[in-house]
Amino acid sequence: MAQLRDDCFAYGGELLPTREALAALAARLEPVAEAESAPLSAALGRILAADIVATRDVPPHDNTAVDGYAVYFDDLDPKAETRLPVTGRAAAGHPMDRPAKRGEAIRIFTGAPMPEGEAGGPDTVIMQEDCRIEGRELIVAPGIARGSNRRARGEDVASGQTILSAGLRLRAQDIGLAASVGRADLPVRRPLRVAIFSTGDEVYDPGDDDEMPGGGIYDANRYCLMALLQGLGCAVTDLGILRDEEPAIRASLEPAAAGHDLIITSGGMSTGEEDHVRAAVEALGRIHFWRLAIKPGRPVAMGQIGATPFFGLPGNPVAMMVTFLYLTRPAILRLAGASALEPHRYRVRAGFDYRKKPRRREFVRVRLCRDTDGEWTTAKFPREGAGILDSMVAADGLVELAEDLTQLKCGSMVDFLPFTEVMP
Ligand code: AMP
Ligand code: MG
Repeated sequence: MAQLRDDCFAYGGELLPTREALAALAARLEPVAEAESAPLSAALGRILAADIVATRDVPPHDNTAVDGYAVYFDDLDPKAETRLPVTGRAAAGHPMDRPAKRGEAIRIFTGAPMPEGEAGGPDTVIMQEDCRIEGRELIVAPGIARGSNRRARGEDVASGQTILSAGLRLRAQDIGLAASVGRADLPVRRPLRVAIFSTGDEVYDPGDDDEMPGGGIYDANRYCLMALLQGLGCAVTDLGILRDEEPAIRASLEPAAAGHDLIITSGGMSTGEEDHVRAAVEALGRIHFWRLAIKPGRPVAMGQIGATPFFGLPGNPVAMMVTFLYLTRPAILRLAGASALEPHRYRVRAGFDYRKKPRRREFVRVRLCRDTDGEWTTAKFPREGAGILDSMVAADGLVELAEDLTQLKCGSMVDFLPFTEVMP
């Protein structure tokens, strides 16, 4: 199960450009999750393991799109009103019990199969609003087109057609389409097994108020990370909080690597003397990069413990989230067998001026609002600290500023990444 090739990313000690980190991950990570079968009721968010080919036509028979009267078009007078006796009936689930004859009209209701008959049977449906009834006779004005209001067998999906492709993360419409061709279950990848840790002598579990000394803080990252991973369909193992001691970190990471497809930690990745995670990972495997040209989030590491990929995310909660969304999320999707890794960004207006350093990618927390002219624009959260988690709560998403940009002028167009694209 070697999902990670053991060769070092080209990296000479400078901050690694973000695109290079993404490309390196894409080149080196292989899907690990084996296939299993999921019933449709439990398929949402799962990743399809094989192409799905329809074995039936949808709709399965020609049928009517409206309530009305099925007729042979050739029975209609193109120049004058036509009168036809209404002598049959077909409803959804109740097809007509005999072939339709020329010269008759069939009362028909939405979804009912078109009656059979001469040369394929009635081919046209008159909507009930477009005709009138006198006694038992239908009266139709001229002008209706041949084939009106009729849905053809197989017009939505033809038997033999590939309806869903391997690697798709299943959405409601995908599940509906699978059901419409008669599938009761789907082949999906098994969930990725991800182990998570927080690190830090100051970090305590919420609720552990009695244990927490002065200077302690509650562990925001582990719960945030757990939710991020659950949103991606991962099976998360919560391995708690590691103290800032290299041997202890090493002793916890090693067994975790054996039973998981991925290990993620937060905190302890910087260069300070209390940051021991990198040394622990290097002792057990290797670090491919650990300083990225990204803000917020510089101390973010990627490596491996044995063959198991490892991400060391920053301790600051906003930096943890941003680097997860930018780097770890596509890596997880790739490991889990998904084909679409990159979220969509949308061009919107910047509602603020901004100066940034060149050669690093920056993410600005923003709220979306309408400008005075009705166009969508972004309002920047006033404070920028990498630890201010309520800025993420207030924001609708991130404005992404590429490496080469140094000065952003209010009113110019920017790439906006809505949280809804990356956090379902
Ligand atoms: P570190 O990356 O360990 O140097 O931590 C950077 C900052 O993030 C410090 O202020 C830590 O207290 C804070 N921090 C680290 N881990 C967490 C956590 N799990 N939850 C909230 N804050 C954290
Ligand atoms: Mg720390």
